[in-house]
Amino acid sequence: MGNRNRHQGMECFADGAQYVGGVSRSGTSGRTQEIVDPASGEVVHRYALASTADVDAAVAAAREAFPGWARATPGERSDALHRFATLLGERADGLARVESLQCGKPLKLTTEFDVPGTVDNTSFFAGAARRLTGQSAGEYSGDHTSYVRREPIGVIGSIAPWNYPLQMAAWKILPAIAAGNTIVLKPAEITPLTSLMFARAATEAGIPAGVINVVSGTGAEAGEHLVGHPDVAMVSFTGSTAVGRRVAEIATASVKRTHLELGGKAPFLVFDDADTEAAVQGAVAAALINSGQDCTAATRVYVQRSRYREVVEGIAETMATVRVGDPFDPSTDIGPLVTHAHRDRVAGFVERARSYATVVTGGRVPEGPGAYYPPTLITGAPQGSEVVGAEIFGPVLVALPFDSDDEGIALANDTPYGLAASAWTRDVFRAQRATREIAAGCVWINDHIPIISEMPHGGMKASGYGKDMSAYSFEEYTQVKHVMFDNTAAVRKDWHRTVFGDRQG
Ligand code: NAD
Repeated sequence: MGNRNRHQGMECFADGAQYVGGVSRSGTSGRTQEIVDPASGEVVHRYALASTADVDAAVAAAREAFPGWARATPGERSDALHRFATLLGERADGLARVESLQCGKPLKLTTEFDVPGTVDNTSFFAGAARRLTGQSAGEYSGDHTSYVRREPIGVIGSIAPWNYPLQMAAWKILPAIAAGNTIVLKPAEITPLTSLMFARAATEAGIPAGVINVVSGTGAEAGEHLVGHPDVAMVSFTGSTAVGRRVAEIATASVKRTHLELGGKAPFLVFDDADTEAAVQGAVAAALINSGQDCTAATRVYVQRSRYREVVEGIAETMATVRVGDPFDPSTDIGPLVTHAHRDRVAGFVERARSYATVVTGGRVPEGPGAYYPPTLITGAPQGSEVVGAEIFGPVLVALPFDSDDEGIALANDTPYGLAASAWTRDVFRAQRATREIAAGCVWINDHIPIISEMPHGGMKASGYGKDMSAYSFEEYTQVKHVMFDNTAAVRKDWHRTVFGDRQG
């Protein structure tokens, strides 16, 4: 595909990569960020990074927009979100192309997953905005009527990663604004473009200026300033566990609510009664989606010993059929990794593993300009080794055998992470046991990866806490207030005895 077609639409970012109060503008940090097409290594855009003053301006815009948006009726918020979903659907093609360009994702993936998922999420929250429910009122003390108000929190500061920039922007922004909050989102500085397109479309759809603001800046400067900002009431973060810890420290110091969606190292547990062909296909697809740059990707395949060889051979054969190539070629299955630096990091894990494990397939950096890395299968690595324990975030799958069911479940849980897992079996009791005993925010049975807007996504253990998507996300983005009405009209209430004793009033 010619570069003119490939870079189509980039001119719309000429006004700058900061979106504050409904206006696009340039950052004032004095430093420039390049956006690189990882398939070619070519710079496709340059923009001025946000300074702390840009973050202050975005927070001020969100603060100003808050009272009006919080008081809008659920119906008004819902109508605006429905219009927003329609507009995003109309712009699906442009969003998919820009997402593919800035991340190196195959157009097939952005067209069939990232963008329709985002449109569906927007439609879901348009409906959910009208269904913020709670306890009914009651006379719990006898003398009072109590009820609970569910209120928005205020200005939300959100920080998102580069692996699914559009979907992560949607997951952070939609529940927050559906519940009546306003938001400042900081996307990853290497992939801000679709977050900007998303925020602009929201304003065009009638969501008031200032409800959604985007600051494109570095984590150290814009990110930390946003997290510590006194006018930010809550921080929601998706990214690595290491950065999540830092974010939590800063937020805790200023007594902010936090919602953390962090790293993962998902186990994929194949019992000896499983449909092995389905498990093989499932493992390869779940390990390689988005070139393995997926927090829920299958990364550790544990196979019951009698089926281990068969599954490992099947995975190696299937991996060899996966077409690695240009994201804009419709036949491409997986594209490059997001940057050359990240590709080198992934390759480093595999190189170090050669001393203690077997690289069955893949594992060689190809010649050429893109940040490509082949589908890679590793066997023979000890459970405690680096490739089994660390989040590699690339197309690298590790396979290990297990003997008893107890051992399989123990190995699946032998990780600090707890984001996602799957179990493959035709035995309902094994399946039930796996769903009960594996500590992860999502456990699939006989599949691995699908997500839906109606169901929560979030982790346990070092994968963080809180939920994205679904009505559960409103627990993060609302606060409950107890309201208590006296029903007696008495001057001296019954409980006043605890202060006045038996004196008459
Ligand atoms: P990252 O933690 O390096 O960066 C995430 C974001 O944090 C970026 O916007 C970055 O600029 C910002 N940041 C960096 N340092 C900061 C600081 N000191 N203060 C504030 N912000 C800071 O993660 P990444 O490499 O962009 O993304 C990959 C990671 O994200 C993986 O660990 C992956 O598992 C995780 N992830 C988790 C989920 C989930 O739902 N749990 C979803 C997607 C990605």
